[in-house]
Amino acid sequence: MNEMPKFLQKIGQDWWLVEDERENMKISYRIKDIIFAAPSDFQHVMILDSYDFGRMLVLDGVVQTTSLDGHIYNEMITHVPLSIHPDPKRVLIIGGGDCGAAHEAAKYSGVERIDMVEIDEMVVRVCKEHLQDVSGNLSDPRVHFIYNDGIEYIKQHKNAYDVIIVDSSDPIGPAKQLFERSFYENIREALKEDGLMVCQSQSPLFHREVMKQTVHHIEELFPISKIYIATVPTYPGGFWSFTIGSKKYKDLVVKNFDKETKYVNESILRSCFDLPEFLRTK
Ligand code: SAM
Repeated sequence: MNEMPKFLQKIGQDWWLVEDERENMKISYRIKDIIFAAPSDFQHVMILDSYDFGRMLVLDGVVQTTSLDGHIYNEMITHVPLSIHPDPKRVLIIGGGDCGAAHEAAKYSGVERIDMVEIDEMVVRVCKEHLQDVSGNLSDPRVHFIYNDGIEYIKQHKNAYDVIIVDSSDPIGPAKQLFERSFYENIREALKEDGLMVCQSQSPLFHREVMKQTVHHIEELFPISKIYIATVPTYPGGFWSFTIGSKKYKDLVVKNFDKETKYVNESILRSCFDLPEFLRTK
């Protein structure tokens, strides 16, 4: 590599990734090695090897997922909705380029087809090759990779999916519209009449406005909505939220959770809906 990517800074003898998207907070990671770095048509893509988090996917200088804790996020965004829907057959993932959510969804033998609509082919390619702790080098014939903008794709599908997982990056760049009301309206139309959706709704502490707005859209558009939480150390503050919008089902149907996982188990599937007082809206 001739030139260091602009997101890396030399401090003393070491190279650091300095996340500085926030005005008043910078998060820095000491880097061992740059495994991949290049601009795609949509964003700057890096796979870095770090000291504490292992390998990490970094888009436009922001860490998306890591070897250390990618499984926590991906298991939580996937197994919760797939344990509420009693018979999910068709699953759509929007975003999710690290392939972790698709890898988890493929653990359900009843799922017949998983469509993954990711805007950036480069993210999928480098995660399959260099971030296998998260992607599992996914190659399941039920997974269909569709390289398209999720905003456009969703407009063209009606009454088609049992479960939709919105696994987006932060609401900047190509993911901005994935947090808007019109997108969730189209998601509702793309779901079957008993379908349900989930999205990552950001940090309850550091992204209060984005979270409030996302939850509000989902509450308005779906008869059943639920927030759940998990601790994902990679994300600012570690305390992370997910929001479900459901047309019909609200209770976990899981009796004996039998998927091979590193984080999720039956008791986490139940307790993740226990919210601190400030998040209890109903
Ligand atoms: N788990 C991570 C997090 O919460 O930060 C993010 C998962 S994944 C890496 C997010 C993916 O969404 C990225 O690969 C990005 O390319 C993709 N993405 C962003 N905007 C998109 C859009 N409009 N349509 C489809 N995929 C999009």
